[in-house]
Parts: sequence; structure tokens; C-alpha cells
Amino acid sequence: MNTTIADRLSIAQSRINQAAQKCSRMPDEIKLLAVSKTKPNSDIIEAYQAGQRLFGENYVQEGEQKISELSAKYPDIEWHFIGPLQSNKTKIVAQHFDWMHTLSRLKIAQRLNEQRPDHQSPLQVCIQVNISQEDTKSGIDADEVMALATQINQMPKLTLRGVMAIPTATDDIQVQQDEFSKLQRIYQNLQQHFENIDTLSMGMSGDLDVAIANGSTMVRIGSAIFGDRS
Ligand SMILES: *Cc1c(COP(=O)(O)O)cnc(C)c1O
Repeated sequence: MNTTIADRLSIAQSRINQAAQKCSRMPDEIKLLAVSKTKPNSDIIEAYQAGQRLFGENYVQEGEQKISELSAKYPDIEWHFIGPLQSNKTKIVAQHFDWMHTLSRLKIAQRLNEQRPDHQSPLQVCIQVNISQEDTKSGIDADEVMALATQINQMPKLTLRGVMAIPTATDDIQVQQDEFSKLQRIYQNLQQHFENIDTLSMGMSGDLDVAIANGSTMVRIGSAIFGDRS
């Protein structure tokens, strides 16, 4: 690509602004999470210098490495873990990340709560919900969200902020619409029962408009900012 990371960030931001305008929402209700997995620190710094502060990583060790190298010089970067997490790696996430989007098991929540260092503020978490028709997708079933949320809500080192989903990969707008509206209803239900629920993490490059029309507050965009991953 001939364009720079700064160019592509501003294109992503204008897509968010336009999608927000179309459904009469304020663009600043929707945060852009720049997904930097597999990309070098130099790319993250370039995005940072263009004003980006929220970065998403999928792999525990890679994320730990980047955070260790960058956090002293760029303390206002907010690091979001958005990948699958095995229970033997929870400590790394608890010690290094600010946010965790893919929480779907009580055991993982308990470990993160125990392993989050006392001197750090609570880990901000979203419950990952399986809203997709595909049975390979990770996440908890919709009808189990409230029970898990109730348990997370009692953990002092975790703050429940909302829900996240990876929908079915499809161009079918109706399928996107059905899945996103389902996640929005779960989110609204959580808002009625818990404090601090302000994050509906859904929407990627291919489904940004539908996600924002259904209330998304955080969209996750990677390759459209940093280029394709090899
Ligand atoms: C990789 C990833 C993204 C970004 O995908 P791109 O196709 O690079 O935009 C968003 N969300 C999650 C959970 C991801 O793993």
C-alpha cells in the first residue's frame, strides 16, 4: 500500500463518522481499537504518533513483549487482549493488559481476578458471547451471560464493561443484522443489572455500518490500518 498508517487511520475514522451519522449517533460514542497483532512496534508507534491510543493484540506472548517494550515510553496506550486465552496463560494477561475482551469461562475469570496485581487498577473485561450460527465459534451462549456476569461482578480485580462477539463471516446484511441486534439486546440487559456497562465490542472492517447501527461502542480494525498480515 502506498498510503501511510496515518492515512489509513483517518480513513477508518471517517468510515466510523459516516456510519454514526447515518444512524444519528455521535461519532465519539464509538471507539476505534487498532488491532496490531503480528505487526511490529514501529507500526504501533506510527499509529500512536497519529493519535491512536487503543491497541488490540491476540497472542499472549507477542502482546507481553510489545507492552514491555513500549509501556514506559508510551504509558497512555491502552492495551486490549482480544484473542483466545488458555488458563495457563492468564497470568500474563492479568499482569500486562488493561482490557480483556474474550472472557467466557468462570475459571478464567477467577484466575485473572487472583492474578491481577494489587497495585494495578482492575482489569476491564467484556464477556465474549457466541452469537454466530457456526458452532466452531468461541464464546458463551447467550442464555448463560447473566450468570457469568453476576459472578464476575463480585470479583474485586475485574470490572465488567460489556460484551464482545465475533459474528458469522458473511456478506449477508440480514445475518449480520440479526446477530448484532441479538448482542445489543444482551448488552442492554446487562446495563439494567450492573454498573459500568458501557462497551459493546462488535464490528470489523466488513460489517462496520451494521455494527454501529446496532449500537456498537468499539470497533476492531486491523488490516485496513496496518496492511495485510502475511
Ligand atoms: C484480527 C482481529 C480483528 C481485526 O481483523 P482485521 O481483518 O485485521 O481487520 C478484529 N477482532 C478480532 C477478535 C481479531 O482477532
